[in-house]
Amino acid sequence: MVLPEDDPLFRALSAATCRAFREAVTTLPQDVVEALRSAAMREPSALAKNELKNILDNIAIAEQRALPLCQDTGVPVVYLTVPPHVPYTETLIYAVGEGVQRATREIPLRPNVVSPLKRENSGDNTGPGMPIVHVRPGSCLSVTVLPKGAGAENMSRLAMLLPTESEKIPRFVAETMLIAGGRPCPPVILGVGIGGTFDGCAALAKEALLLPIDTMDPFEQKLCDAVNALGIGPMGLGGKTTALAVKVRMAACHTASLPVAVNVQCWAARHCTVEVPW
Ligand code: SF4
Repeated sequence: MVLPEDDPLFRALSAATCRAFREAVTTLPQDVVEALRSAAMREPSALAKNELKNILDNIAIAEQRALPLCQDTGVPVVYLTVPPHVPYTETLIYAVGEGVQRATREIPLRPNVVSPLKRENSGDNTGPGMPIVHVRPGSCLSVTVLPKGAGAENMSRLAMLLPTESEKIPRFVAETMLIAGGRPCPPVILGVGIGGTFDGCAALAKEALLLPIDTMDPFEQKLCDAVNALGIGPMGLGGKTTALAVKVRMAACHTASLPVAVNVQCWAARHCTVEVPW
């Protein structure tokens, strides 16, 4: 029997997962950095401008020193694409888990994962159901990581609207940020899921956080403008920039349902994809 650690596929995917976490927690995607820079240029408030400058300085120092850019290195959310020639077996899931444990030791990541009621910390960011791994068919084997900090995740909301209430969506999105205030470390990116089912809608909202933020369609722009009109500003200290972007993903749903989910993401919008040559 081939033990997972003796399996070359296990080793390659585990190493790629660890590499993706290292890149994600130390270097923000360029579209996020650019959005922060242009927000800093547009902000009329000196305090807001200064907060954005502090965030940009923090990002630059983290990248130079290869250190995590926030102390909360999140919980591990992972997306795998699996091509037809790679067997989809438990080996892939074990490999991702081992990659998370290795990243926790080597980078290091803060051990954030605990049992939900006893609050016992596993010490390695894994546990039953964690990391969360979403698997999709694809043309190549790839691992995408999205380390998700709790400050922003805790402010996320989901509503099962009536099918006739689509006009309430902008209000629900803005209200989510109004309730959150400065707690999710704004400026935020909001991932909005519309449609699907109760669980599927939340997954859509999280996947929306992987979309590039350098463009928004007119509906996304309308939602973003509604959030920025709140004046919460960078780190909640007031200003025009509460959200850098709002991104929407939709799915078909039951004729009697209209689920809407808002997944709040802080400025530390970390994600990274690594392809595994296989
Ligand atoms: S919300 Fe984001 S920036 Fe704030 S502490 Fe958590 S991970 Fe860090």
